[in-house]
Amino acid sequence: MSARGGDGRRDGLLRRLRVVVAGEPLDDLARRVVALGIAGGAPVMLVVLALRGDTDPLVRLGYPPVVVMLLGYAWVLVHRPARAVLVSRVVLGTFEVLWLASVVVRLRTADDVVQGWAALFPLSFMGLVVFVVVGYLFQSTTAALLHGVILVAATLATTLVALAGVEGGRAYVVDASRFCMYLAVVVFMLYVLSGAKERLARAEASAARASARALELHDLAYLDELTGVGNRRRVVEELAFRAGQVTADEPVAVLYFDLDRFKAVNDEHGHAVGDEVLRAVAAAAGTVVRREDVVGRLGGEEFVVVAPGTDRDRAVQLAERLRQTLPHEVSVATGVRATASFGVVMVEPGESPESVLTRVDVLMYRAKSGGRDRVEVAG
Ligand code: GH3
Ligand code: MG
Ligand code: MG
Repeated sequence: MSARGGDGRRDGLLRRLRVVVAGEPLDDLARRVVALGIAGGAPVMLVVLALRGDTDPLVRLGYPPVVVMLLGYAWVLVHRPARAVLVSRVVLGTFEVLWLASVVVRLRTADDVVQGWAALFPLSFMGLVVFVVVGYLFQSTTAALLHGVILVAATLATTLVALAGVEGGRAYVVDASRFCMYLAVVVFMLYVLSGAKERLARAEASAARASARALELHDLAYLDELTGVGNRRRVVEELAFRAGQVTADEPVAVLYFDLDRFKAVNDEHGHAVGDEVLRAVAAAAGTVVRREDVVGRLGGEEFVVVAPGTDRDRAVQLAERLRQTLPHEVSVATGVRATASFGVVMVEPGESPESVLTRVDVLMYRAKSGGRDRVEVAG
């Protein structure tokens, strides 16, 4: 038990490590949102550049290649989803390095440190916040946290080094540290949010698996494997349930039918064809009855229909319709001619399933001895 627990933990850790290294497939929505954002934002960057006639060399020379890179990235997001995570990491990493380099250039090339520091607001620092957020968009929570922490550390180191090289830079060390602390707070807040989202997604996935499994077990317990209609257990439960509900206004009819001379079908055409016939009978019965009726196979070539809200006359009509439909449907599906003999009874209030099945069995045998391919109903 403990060894299995240890293995499970190790597998879990390895899986997490793989996710951190390789990344998870990028969520479709995240891909589209980022691609759409770039497709709208990149041309706007160029228009703004043209209209402002910016003289800042960083903007003038930096924008066009950045726009080209972003558009290429958007293309990858839409057309190469399998490479989206890897390319996202490369693009984001490249941007971050260029961005921090531009912070250094701004601080170092300004007329004085006051202007240099001011030039970092809002765009340079806002950009770093955006990088943190984007990191969480396409990476697992752990990988995004790691990315955020590295970015904060790199920003702090870069800014401090840049400030150390300019006159009066020391005065801004506290401000730079404070900004990096804010950035770290954003990283951790998003970590908490993203972790909650991830746990929710995991819980949803395991709930979906559990309900699929429950459905499977339900099918195993209640469906006949060969034909897909209910099995004996399903029929008995339905009969017990309906017997508790039956009234004069809400009569419940039970039809029971057994294929005629089915042994000869097996003997003549083989067991596999016999199985096909059974499947065709179940399918045909399913198309004749209403939604609320339950069709079941008791075993062998014996079927039952439990029809709530059906009086005696309608039950006989239903049995007649089935009797007439089956040979045609089975012959179309399998090429074999098959008929069936029917018994029809009305369920008594509180009657046991065994009693209902015994009564209807007697009638079905009366139909057999009366010549087969016919319907017998209780007096
Ligand atoms: P009757 O008209 O009197 O009902 O004659 P019958 O031949 O249908 O009756 P009998 O009970 O003698 O034979 C039923 C046959 O159904 C025997 C068995 O080979 C066949 N059978 C039972 N279960 C299956 C099944 O799952 N698949 C196939 N292919 N045959 C089955
Ligand atoms: Mg038979
Ligand atoms: Mg039989």
